[in-house]
Amino acid sequence: MAKNSLHCSFCGRSRDEVKILIAGQEGHICENCVEHAQEIIQQELMLRDEPAHGSSQFKLTVKKPVEIKRFLDEYVIGQDDAKKILAVAVYNHYKRLQQKTNENDVEIEKSNIIMVGETGTGKTLLAKTIAKLLNVPFAIVDATVFTEAGYVGEDVESILTRLLQVCNYDVPSAERGIVYIDEIDKIARKGDNPSITRDVSGEGVQQGLLKLLEGTDVLVPPQGGRKHPEQKLVKINTQNILFICGGAFDGIDKIIARRVNTNAIGFNVNKEQQEATKKNLLQFVNAPDLKSFGLIPELLGRLPVVTHLNPLDRTTLRSILTEPKNSLVRQYKKLFEIENIQLSIEEEVLDFMVDKAVEYKLGARGLRSICESILTDAMFEMPSTKEHKLHVELEYAKKKFDKSKMSLLKVA
Ligand code: ADP
Repeated sequence: MAKNSLHCSFCGRSRDEVKILIAGQEGHICENCVEHAQEIIQQELMLRDEPAHGSSQFKLTVKKPVEIKRFLDEYVIGQDDAKKILAVAVYNHYKRLQQKTNENDVEIEKSNIIMVGETGTGKTLLAKTIAKLLNVPFAIVDATVFTEAGYVGEDVESILTRLLQVCNYDVPSAERGIVYIDEIDKIARKGDNPSITRDVSGEGVQQGLLKLLEGTDVLVPPQGGRKHPEQKLVKINTQNILFICGGAFDGIDKIIARRVNTNAIGFNVNKEQQEATKKNLLQFVNAPDLKSFGLIPELLGRLPVVTHLNPLDRTTLRSILTEPKNSLVRQYKKLFEIENIQLSIEEEVLDFMVDKAVEYKLGARGLRSICESILTDAMFEMPSTKEHKLHVELEYAKKKFDKSKMSLLKVA
């Protein structure tokens, strides 16, 4: 029989009409029918109210820590300590979830994580990459929008609203999810607070977070925002939700320096070591430092794993341009490729971009704007021309960069 007479045994579509046709023992199934079947299974399980950890979906992908780290390596450059700690925490999270089905008597406590690192060093990227890999719901929220009950802003419970939304209001799924809370340092206690409309001191928000982190039943407004009396609330148990917090903690290096210096008295530390230590004090961060910064001890007690991200040096910035699976250079090449244009960039140009990112103190985030400033003209003009090649040389890059508004951004 000719090859294209193959067809999906479920919907009858022929080989030509579908993208993928999977062969079974006596028939075939196309990608549309697989998706449709998956939806039916999910709906059925939800109607029967099957416990989520018993569902086949959950058992699908439990990656080992080494595999998780390897996956992170494809997208995030460096930051090995943070990657390892995250990999283990996420793996243990899975183990806890599985343990529940076995009704084991030794209960593993969850280990919520706090990541400390300068802005733009990859905290959110790590969290997002983890989300790509997982088959548990994952939500990213910003701590700055939350305020203590009674003040202007969102209730902390709406953190869980995001989680509910990503898993389509499937409560059992949400109850085993992971939440990344960004900018946790912005709710640190800051002493006297003159505002009466917003809890600027942050302590109230920290108190609010406590009950979410420790694992209790929380009533959540399904649409987020503030709770109001007539609203129907959804009950979520947070016992199995893993919380990862991240923040830049500007100025914490001084707190660490004070501690490290005091401890170093009397030890024979050589100059080189001292210099290296001074450059990256964050590697020594611990819970008491975070307490001195303004996080309340009760909150820290519920975030037992503390890790750090290193500042990005030139070599790392250079690698970020080309190495990750979806690196900036690869993304731009792809954009040009779609226009049938082959883009090549000289090594010197990449060094130039890194130089500018360092000079303008823009970090990894700035690399994207620098690329834009150099390539925008070409992206604007070339689709209307018949050219099929763009080779970016240093002179061209310098000219475009100097012409752009970016060159005005220089900080003192
Ligand atoms: P933050 O630590 O402030 O959360 P992000 O994770 O948002 O920083 O990083 C901003 C951008 O910088 C990312 O989208 C990514 O493109 C780039 N970036 C930062 N750090 C790294 C890294 N270690 N590896 C690869 N890309 C990075």
